[in-house]
Amino acid sequence: MVPITKSPFLTTNSCVSLLYNSQFHPMKAAPTLGQQFDPGMPVQFVKGIGPKLAEVLREKGITTIEDLLYYLPFRYEDRLNPRTVAELRPGEMATVIAEVRGVSLYRTSRMPIFEMVAGQGRSSVRCLWFNGTYLRDRFQPGQLVALYGKVDQDRQGRLQIVQPQFEILGDPEDSEAGVEQAAAESLEIGRIIPIYETAGNKKLSSRWFRRVIHNALEKLPPDLPDGIPAAVRRRLRLVPSYEAFWKAHWPEPGESFDDLLNWRTPAHFRLIFEELFFLELGLELKRRKYRSGTGIPFRLDEKVRQAIKRILPFHPTGAQKRVLKDIADDMQKAVPMRRLLQGDVGSGKTIVALEAAIIAMENGYQVALMAPTEILATQHYLSARRILENAGYRIVLLTGSLEQDRKRQLRRHINAGNAHLVIGTHALIQDAVEFSKLGLVIVDEQHRFGVIQRFKLMKKTGDAERASTAETESAPERSLSPEEPHTLVMTATPIPRTLALTLYGDLDISVLNELPPGRTPIVTRRVSDDRSDEVFDFVRKQVAAGHQAYVVYPVIEENEERELKAAISMFQKLRSRELRASHVGLLHGRMDADEKDRVMREFQAGEIDVLVSTTVIEVGVDVPNANVMVVEHAERFGLAQLHQLRGRIGRGAAKSYCVLMTSGKVTEEANRRLDAMVRTTDGFEIADLDLELRGPGEFFGTKQAGMPNFRVASLVRDREIIEIAKREAAFVLSGPNAEISHEEINRALVHLRTHWQRRYGLAEVG
Ligand code: ADP
Ligand code: MG
Repeated sequence: MVPITKSPFLTTNSCVSLLYNSQFHPMKAAPTLGQQFDPGMPVQFVKGIGPKLAEVLREKGITTIEDLLYYLPFRYEDRLNPRTVAELRPGEMATVIAEVRGVSLYRTSRMPIFEMVAGQGRSSVRCLWFNGTYLRDRFQPGQLVALYGKVDQDRQGRLQIVQPQFEILGDPEDSEAGVEQAAAESLEIGRIIPIYETAGNKKLSSRWFRRVIHNALEKLPPDLPDGIPAAVRRRLRLVPSYEAFWKAHWPEPGESFDDLLNWRTPAHFRLIFEELFFLELGLELKRRKYRSGTGIPFRLDEKVRQAIKRILPFHPTGAQKRVLKDIADDMQKAVPMRRLLQGDVGSGKTIVALEAAIIAMENGYQVALMAPTEILATQHYLSARRILENAGYRIVLLTGSLEQDRKRQLRRHINAGNAHLVIGTHALIQDAVEFSKLGLVIVDEQHRFGVIQRFKLMKKTGDAERASTAETESAPERSLSPEEPHTLVMTATPIPRTLALTLYGDLDISVLNELPPGRTPIVTRRVSDDRSDEVFDFVRKQVAAGHQAYVVYPVIEENEERELKAAISMFQKLRSRELRASHVGLLHGRMDADEKDRVMREFQAGEIDVLVSTTVIEVGVDVPNANVMVVEHAERFGLAQLHQLRGRIGRGAAKSYCVLMTSGKVTEEANRRLDAMVRTTDGFEIADLDLELRGPGEFFGTKQAGMPNFRVASLVRDREIIEIAKREAAFVLSGPNAEISHEEINRALVHLRTHWQRRYGLAEVG
C-alpha cells in the first residue's frame, strides 16, 4: 500500500446530532408568491434550467414542467432519522450522515482504491471505492456527507461500506448561518430525501433534480385541474394531483418506507392510476368506435351448425367450444367483431378459425386468411383443403411465388366472388386484392406483436371494398352504412394478461388454455451436469426403445464464450463416446440451407437418433417421435426460449422428458427460471414470470411499436391497478348516469386529448 494523500483526522465540532430532530414538512412549505406554473410550460421556465440543460433533459423525454414532475425518485433515503455511525450493523443497507475525517488513495496490485473515513463523535466508518482515483479531489475534511450502502466488516472487524452512494451536504465554512437553520432550509437532510436517476452522463445529478423539481413544485398552482371524474376520485379515494406530486417527491415524515420503496403510497397510486386510466380510456374509446361501425349480422341456424359439425375431424376441446361460442356470438351481431384469439402452440387454433370461416361462407360471404410467411400460408392452405374441400367450398392460395398471370387470374376470381376462402400472406392480400363480399378476416399472427398496425391496414381493405361498392351500385343505403368485415386475430405467443389489457385493450380476447387430448404431459427435471453420465444413459435407453432426442447447446463453437460447452465439439465427443452406438446429427445456424435441410429430413425420417443443435430448432420443427430434450447450460437460456425448446417434444403419444442441465453456479434469477420450467408447462404462467424477470422492454425483444411508453406505471408492478383502470374507464364511458355527468365525461375526454393522447399514439381517438 502506497498512501498518496493522507489527511489528519479532524476534530471539527460536529453538529450532526442536532440535525436529527429537526422536522420538516414539505407540504407546509409556504408556496413562493409570484407567477405560478402551468404544467404544460416548457421546462426552461423552472429556475435552474437553462437552454443547455433543457437539451439534456429532452434526451430523457422531459420537455415540459409536467414531464419533469413525472420524473419520480427511484428510491428515498431516510435522512430524517438517519442511523448514527455507532448504530450501524454489518449486513444492513443504511443511510448515515457523518463528517469527512480523512481520505487516502492507495494502490493494490490490482487496482487503485480510494478510502474515506467518515465519523461522528468517537465512531467512524470506512468507505472504499475501487478504481476510485476520480474521487481524489471530491472530499474536504469537515464536510458533511450522506452515505448510503451496505454495511459490512473488514478482516479486523471494523465497519466499512464498499462503494457507497454519497452526497456532499455542505462545507464547514457554509455552516456559519447555523446548522439548524441550514437543515430547515436544506433539501438534503432532516427529511425523507428523494433519490433520482442521474441524467446526461451524470451531468444532472440526483441532487440537481432534487433542487429543480423542488423549484417547480413550489410554483405549482395548488388547484391543478383534474381530468379524472369526481366519482372515480371518490371511489378510489384519490389524492389531488398537486398533493400527489408533492408527496411523491417529498414524502411527509410519517410515510411508510415500505410503501415508498414499492411505489404504493397514496401519492404514487394516484399518479400511476391516472396514467393507466387515460390509457384505458383511450383504448375503450377506440373499441367503442369500432363498435359503432356496421357489421354483418350472420345467421347461425341449424344449417350452419350442421355444416360445422360435418367438417370437424375430432371432438373439440372444452376451450375450443368456449372460444368458438365467443366468436359465433360476435359474428351474429351487427357490429364488426374485433377479437384476439390467444393460444399456445398446438392448442388447436386452426380448426377454430376454419369453423368461423364456415359461418361466413354459409352466409354467402368470402373469407381472407392471412399468415405472416408463405410457408405458414401454404400449411394453412393444405389443412384447409383437407378439412373443407369435400364440403364444396372453393379455396385459393395466393403467394408471391406464383406467376404474374396466375396471380391476376386468381384476383379476378376473388373479385368476382368465385373464391370463398382466400389464403395468403398479409402483404399480398392487403395490397392487391379486392373482394366481392368480404365477411371475415382472419390474421394468423405467429410473430410476436405488431397486431395493431396490421389492423390499420386491414381497414384499408374494408375501405376499398366500401369504395367499390359505392361506385358500382350507388345504392344510397349501402353507402350510408358500409359493412365492415369481422376480424379475428390469432397469436401463438402467450401474452401476460396485463400486457394484453394494455396492448390489445381495444380488442376482445379469447384464450385457448387447454391442449387437445391424447398428449401426455412432459416431465421436466433439472440436474447439475456432474450427473451428465446418468442423463446420457437415459438418452441411450430412450433411443433403444425407438425414440429420438434433441441435445441443445447455447453456442456453436468453443471460442465464442469461454467455459461454455459448444455444439460442434460436444457433437464430436458424444458421437465418439457417450452415444457412439447411436446415429448422432448436428444442426446449427452457420450451416448452409441445403445442409440444414438434409439433416432435418434425416432426423424427421428417423435416420438420425440424436440431434445435437443450437437454438435453431426453437421454431417450426415438428418430429413427433422425438420425446427427449436435453438442454445443456440451461441456466443461460431465457424462459421464453426454454418454453419454445420444450415445445419441440410432447408431440407424439409417448411420454416425453425435458432435462435442464446446469453448469457451475446458477444465479438467483436463473434458479427462478428453471424452477418455473419444472413447475409448469403453462405458457401463460411462464410468460407472466418472464415479464416479471425481464421487464417489458426485454420481453418484447426490441422496443416495440405500439408498446406504451409509461412515465410512472409498470406493467409488472401495477397489475392490479391496470385492472382497476380498465374497469373505471369502462364505467366512465358507459355514462352519463346518477354518478357521473355528461360534462364530467367530456372533461375527461378533453384531458385525454390534451394530455395523454399523443403519448400513447392513440391518435385516432375522436
Ligand atoms: P395451433 O394452435 O398451434 O395453430 P393447430 O391448430 O395446428 O395448433 O393444432 C395442432 C394439432 O392438434 C393439429 O394436428 C390439429 O389437428 C390437432 N387438434 C386440434 N384440435 C384438436 C382436438 N380437439 N382434438 C384432437 N386433435 C386436435
Ligand atoms: Mg397455428
